[in-house]
Amino acid sequence: MLLPEVEYARPSSVQEALGLLSEYEGARPLAGGQTLVNVMKARAAAPDVLVDLQDLDELKGIDLGADGTVTLGAMVTYSDVIGSAEARARPILGEVCAQIADVQVRNRGTVGGNICSNDPTNHLPPLLVALGATMTIRAAGGERTVPAEQFFVGVYQTAAGPGELLTTISIPAGKADGFAAVTIGKDGTCIVNVAASLDGGSPCVVVGCVDAVPIVLRPGTDDEDAVRSAVRGANLQPPSDVHASADYRRHLAEVLAARAIRQAQGRRN
Ligand SMILES: Cc1cc2nc3c(=O)[nH]c(=O)nc-3n(C[C@H](O)[C@H](O)[C@H](O)COP(=O)(O)OP(=O)(O)OC[C@H]3O[C@@H](n4cnc5c(N)ncnc54)[C@H](O)[C@@H]3O)c2cc1C
Repeated sequence: MLLPEVEYARPSSVQEALGLLSEYEGARPLAGGQTLVNVMKARAAAPDVLVDLQDLDELKGIDLGADGTVTLGAMVTYSDVIGSAEARARPILGEVCAQIADVQVRNRGTVGGNICSNDPTNHLPPLLVALGATMTIRAAGGERTVPAEQFFVGVYQTAAGPGELLTTISIPAGKADGFAAVTIGKDGTCIVNVAASLDGGSPCVVVGCVDAVPIVLRPGTDDEDAVRSAVRGANLQPPSDVHASADYRRHLAEVLAARAIRQAQGRRN
């Protein structure tokens, strides 16, 4: 299906982009276009103005801080992460980006677009919550940081509101992390995914694809039975569809949580 007609702007600074986003009520940021353009073609969204972020070099950096924090600009692509020496300080970032779709999507799709679309089946929301990331959001009036756990507020909704831009994502140092997913075919959409981290001392297990936002579980111990029991006790209410029943998704959540925590344990030692 063809795109509907839409105004297009290509600002050369974040400030200019924010000006455009606040000037036009129906303006939307355009990152890699891998979700937004498809959604527009399907007539499920009809922005009046697309504000293309492609020229904003300010949003394309990958930095490694002295304390081991990896900071990704919102316009960093999955391929950028995979190829970055700085991002390799937190290897799971590149490992998970390498699992997303195919090389074309990985070359165009951005970390910021992935999390701002907050499609519940995306790979990065549960991962970034488990890793304890913080998001920086800029508006014309200033900047604020939001913990990943509070960033995802509903299906396709995040803490970055109209007129605002996600600018950076900061991931603290750590290594005891894991990620496991079952997808529809090879490289397909996730049916369920789970990220885990033992870096903060107490385990954090985050289940994706089962609700509007990633579900955060804190089992208290990283004992596999305790982790499985925490998933069972969460009373998950995932959707049932042609790919998997709700019961099967609940089963997968438990199995994948155990896999993700085992991977995290293996990396801690
Ligand atoms: C064939 C195919 C398979 C895919 N499979 C997967 C998969 O397995 N796993 C997965 O995780 N993803 C998958 N995706 C989605 C893909 O990862 C997209 O790249 C991603 O969801 C959106 O990133 P984008 O840069 O293309 O953003 P866009 O599509 O340009 O934007 C997405 C949304 O985020 C908003 N936005 C973008 N950047 C910002 C910003 N800086 N600040 C505020 N709002 C912003 C836009 O306004 C829009 O609403 C797939 C996509 C395709 C086409």
